[in-house]
Amino acid sequence: MRRRLAPLCLTAAVGLCAWLAAQDQPASPKKSDSPQREGGAPMADAPEQAHWQQLTPEEERVIVGKGTEAPFTGEYTDTNDEGVYTCRRCGAMLYRSTDKFHSGCGWPAFDDEIPGAVTRLPDADGRRTEIVCAHCGGHLGHVFTGERLTNKNVRHCVNSISMRFVPAADVKFGRAIFAGGCFWGVEYWMERQPGVVRATSGYTGGHLDNPSYEDLHHRDTGHAEAVEVLYDPVATSFEALAKVFFEIHDPTQANGQGPDIGPEYRSAIFYLDDEQKATAERLIAELETKGLAVVTEVVPAGIFWPAEEYHQDYFTLRKTTPTCHFRRHVWE
Ligand SMILES: [Zn+2]
Repeated sequence: MRRRLAPLCLTAAVGLCAWLAAQDQPASPKKSDSPQREGGAPMADAPEQAHWQQLTPEEERVIVGKGTEAPFTGEYTDTNDEGVYTCRRCGAMLYRSTDKFHSGCGWPAFDDEIPGAVTRLPDADGRRTEIVCAHCGGHLGHVFTGERLTNKNVRHCVNSISMRFVPAADVKFGRAIFAGGCFWGVEYWMERQPGVVRATSGYTGGHLDNPSYEDLHHRDTGHAEAVEVLYDPVATSFEALAKVFFEIHDPTQANGQGPDIGPEYRSAIFYLDDEQKATAERLIAELETKGLAVVTEVVPAGIFWPAEEYHQDYFTLRKTTPTCHFRRHVWE
């Protein structure tokens, strides 16, 4: 029997229901073990710096001055509540509570990070590995391996003062749905973008409930192979992801993509709100000024049906790269 993921609610900002669905995912070797994500470097000159949290002197000492809070004094050392730990300075999502464990070391410990959220740097002491927020470069702590404290054998030792806890009910992911040919390749590229928490291959745009892969390719379902992207709205945006979408497939090919021919491989953006619709249409207009005859459909999103488990992380699990999608930069 195929394992199915629960369909998500139909909004651009996804809260608790997506959070709960994300917890159903198997511990993912997929993203953290994957090749280097794009743009891992801190973006300390990001324009949203103006929205960064004003730091107290003690926060500044740790986050900017790379200091360390005293052991067993931080507010998150022994917490267990379900939610997400974000960067105290910029608000980017860093760790899930499900990756937190008690190490006994006196600081909060995690054995995994939200993909792409943490950058590793050689510590100034020449021995340890420092970890910083990938979005703003703020100091978090250090990461250690080989201690055999958990199955993942990794310990992010993080200062409580570098983080802020957001309860699960208050977590808001951004959400986007793109169709651009074979979903294996679209998913591969999307899950490597900074700020993407999860990318899922699936089916949408048609009229058949609970479609299977066989239904899509042997029946008239109206569905397209598509990818649902959940992202941290602090670390990235619908516009940034939509630009990537246009750069990894050919938006001028009608009724297919490359050798994959048929409406199930059509190019489409399934928008979740008017802002996404306006952004998609503006980007298409920009491509048209570059001489491209774009055929990408911009249509309202319906139910997204996650595909069978064997379609998820197809290239990553096979430790290979897409033969169906390549990125060429259109926007600089
Ligand atoms: Zn940050």
